[in-house]
Amino acid sequence: MFRMKNSIRENNSILVLSEIINQPEISRAMISELTGLNKATVSEIVRRLIDDDYVIEIGPGKSTSSGGRRPIQLTVNKKAGVSISFEVRYDRISYLITSLDGEKLDYTIEESEMNKDNIVDFITEVVEEVKASIGDIPFGIIGVTISIHGIVHENKIEFTPYFDLDQIDLVSLLSERLDMPVYIENEANLSALAEAAFDNEHKSLVSFSAHTGIGAGIILDGKLHRGYKGRAGEVGHTVLYPNGTSCPCGNQGCLEQYCSTKAVVRKFQILKGDPSLTFDDLIDSYHQKDSSTLNMILQFAKDFGIGLMNVIGNYDPEVVYINSELLEEIPELISLLQHYLSMTIYKNVPLKQSILGKKASLYGATVMNLQEFLHVENVEFSLNMEKVLEV
Ligand SMILES: [Zn+2]
Repeated sequence: MFRMKNSIRENNSILVLSEIINQPEISRAMISELTGLNKATVSEIVRRLIDDDYVIEIGPGKSTSSGGRRPIQLTVNKKAGVSISFEVRYDRISYLITSLDGEKLDYTIEESEMNKDNIVDFITEVVEEVKASIGDIPFGIIGVTISIHGIVHENKIEFTPYFDLDQIDLVSLLSERLDMPVYIENEANLSALAEAAFDNEHKSLVSFSAHTGIGAGIILDGKLHRGYKGRAGEVGHTVLYPNGTSCPCGNQGCLEQYCSTKAVVRKFQILKGDPSLTFDDLIDSYHQKDSSTLNMILQFAKDFGIGLMNVIGNYDPEVVYINSELLEEIPELISLLQHYLSMTIYKNVPLKQSILGKKASLYGATVMNLQEFLHVENVEFSLNMEKVLEV
């Protein structure tokens, strides 16, 4: 789990450190109670853990019921470890390095095509560079989590419609090269974990991601809902038009064939008869109020609204976060979608633009690393948003 050096070579020290990792904060007396070690032993071990930077004191906790002196609380030193997150799309890979409190140390986007032949080398190289740059900090790299645009089940990629990563066992290949935990998870699921970590108000939420494909990440009562085979929230493959456009999933007329960013750009190219047109051209055309583009976007909004209502109807979230490049560029569409909802039984469900945007699944991957390392179900970030959002 964590590297053993200096103060934590013997079992009792590991026991004490595990208790501190397992709780947001804990007192020496509580550790003694939970481990069965006597108070003097716990105090001596804690002193060494503090000296070696694994643990810090965070001041007095709440008063005891008997009104006694408030004990000093201990917590893990959040600067003593590093989390690494990757997000892999068919046309680019990005990564985020943070300390254990989520503070950003590095964020990089590389515009290069990732496939089964180059991804293991790429990730290994980045991780080795990070390892060399952080030097000998107590916990080192606590984990590497990779966000995938596809269906992931039990750390295996089951289906990726737009690249070939489902042909390799990515976690096994990386685990052979890296001596640290490696996890993979669906992009929309991770985005939902990130929204939940920044949103202290809602316990049930949906993160609706529309990029190359479309997927929803679902948090119910504070827990990520994956489904039996990791397919919960695969809203992109719910059918909008029976007998419509064929989809790599095996169905016809799936939502993502009409509403993913990729599909909308393709539709714009067909509309204008020019296959070289880009996403930016589409946005320019919309802002120039080109009538055929406006009509196309209106149809997009109607289709998108149906997908949205299907998810809301299935999972009944308190709030929906929308993560889409297209809606980021045309934010008035959120009000239009909210208007569609207002005419239905879903009228009270607020739609929010994700402010994390492109970084959502990377922060979600950080949450996953922290959940696994700290053995906690929920992670809450209290970060300076300006720092989170700066590139
Ligand atoms: Zn499909």
